[in-house]
Formats: sequence, structure tokens, C-alpha cells
Amino acid sequence: MFFDTYDTPVFRPPSEARSFILRVTRGCAHNKCTYCNMYRGVQFMMCSDADISKQIALAANYGKASVKRIFLADGDALVVSTDKLLKILSVLYETFPNLQRVSSYAAPQDILRKSVEELRQLKEAGLKLLYYGMESGDDSVLKAVNKGVTGQEAIEAGRRVTLSGMKLSMMIICGLAGTKGSEQHARETAKAINIIQPNMLSALCLMLYRGSELLNQYERGEFDPLSPVGIMREMHSIISRVEINAGHHCLFRSNHVSNYVQLAGTLPKDKNMLLAEMEFSIEKLAKLKDWDVYNNTRY
Ligand code: SF4
Repeated sequence: MFFDTYDTPVFRPPSEARSFILRVTRGCAHNKCTYCNMYRGVQFMMCSDADISKQIALAANYGKASVKRIFLADGDALVVSTDKLLKILSVLYETFPNLQRVSSYAAPQDILRKSVEELRQLKEAGLKLLYYGMESGDDSVLKAVNKGVTGQEAIEAGRRVTLSGMKLSMMIICGLAGTKGSEQHARETAKAINIIQPNMLSALCLMLYRGSELLNQYERGEFDPLSPVGIMREMHSIISRVEINAGHHCLFRSNHVSNYVQLAGTLPKDKNMLLAEMEFSIEKLAKLKDWDVYNNTRY
């Protein structure tokens, strides 16, 4: 059965804007995180071999030489079996002569279903980068948002990727614990980052998306969100605790649509500069009066 390939929303990281988006799954196999509305209403399924071949043929027809990067969609393409992914990667590198990198999102459960050796095989076959939304290193936050893993498992997932030699781009969400859990979220998240040592780290700010369970919780009075200044303080608290090993570089970005302030630098080199910019923003945001949580609500 063929689908119109783009009949449901497609999400990809900002850095994949020029990539060929190849759908190998539809939706998200987990689809239970309370803060996420990306694939609500989309029934998860694996794309058939025929459907994947059809997309590859269409892109090849458009211009084989122009494809340099490919992003495997949807929400957690790593859920696909290692054997099938290896076959897909082989076809992709045979078809597109200038292909430099294939990447995908990865949920922690999917990473944990693969051994370091399997991840290494996938990396050797050209799956060079995984985008992993760890969100928090704190057990209680991960449980509250229904991430499906413990803090320890979240760390193990990140470690497995870095041990395999794949590049790891990791996302965390500032504000995810609300007011009460903020300090612990900051502390445990920084600890997890320090153990995992990702290659890239993106700090997003919590948004209460329409259709998400977290927005419902807020409307029922069950979730007390941080103000923008509280979120920036939390980000500062995390980054001030982050220790990147000597000789390792971690690109830090805070330039998602959710962020109040656009920040970019390399850790550990730019840590003091990033903290100073956060302190400046905290001072500015502290002057905001009548903050309205619905300013945080989009889509
Ligand atoms: S955050 Fe990721 S794993 Fe969680 S429901 Fe959304 S797409 Fe799925």
C-alpha cells in the first residue's frame, strides 16, 4: 500500500533543512511524551520496502548528484531493525554518489534496543548522526512526562551512541520540571550531560503545545510552569555545571523557535561567554511584567 509520502506533518532538526527527508516510519512508536504534540493523531507504522524505494527513486530522478545529506524520518527512525536500516543505508550510498551523511531522530528506547556493536555497524554503513531528545536526566521529570525511561536509562542511551563513535546531538528542555522540580532537573540534567559528553547540545525552552497532555495538565492546575526568567535561570544553572572533557568539543545551541534568546558557542571554550549572555538575558527578562503562560503556547 502506498501513501502520499507527505500527507502527515514532517518534522526535522533545523540543521537538516537542506536534506532529503526519507520516511522510513510514520509517526512515533512511543507517542506518549506529555509535552509533545508532533505526531498526535498519526498512527505509527513502518514504511514498506516498496514505499521507501519509491521515495528514493523520486529523489534520484530529481537529481542524484544534488543529494548530500539524508534525514530518516519520522519521530524515531531508529526503531527500524538494524538489518533493514543497513539495507536502506547501502541503497542510499549506492544511489547518491555525493552522499556525505545520513542521520535520524532516536528515542532512548530505540537506542537501548540496539547494542553498541549494532550502532557501530550502522555508523560504518553511514548513519553518522543521531538526534536524541533526552530532555532531562532526572528520574522524576522523565516519569512525570512519560518519557518511558529512567534517568539511568536515559544516560545509558546517550553513552551507547557516543561509545559507538556516532555523533550525538542531544536536546534538553529547560522548564520541563515546572517551578517545583527546577533545581533537581538542572542538577541531574547537567550530571547526565557530563557522563554522556555529547557532540552537540541544544537547550530548548518548554512550550505548552496545543493538543499536548502537558497543556491539559496546566489548564487543570496540575503543572506550574516557570516564567521566562525562571527558564533562563535554569539554563544558566545547567550550563554552569556542565563539564566537557579536555580535548572534546561540544557545540552548544539555543536557537530553536522556543528559545527566548539565541545563543551559540562551543563548550568548554565559550562557557563563560555563554553564561555571561544568559546573565544579561536574565536581567532583561526579570523586567517582564504580566507574563502570560499562553505566550508560550503555539500550534
Ligand atoms: S518527544 Fe519524541 S519520543 Fe516523545 S512522543 Fe514526541 S516524537 Fe515521540
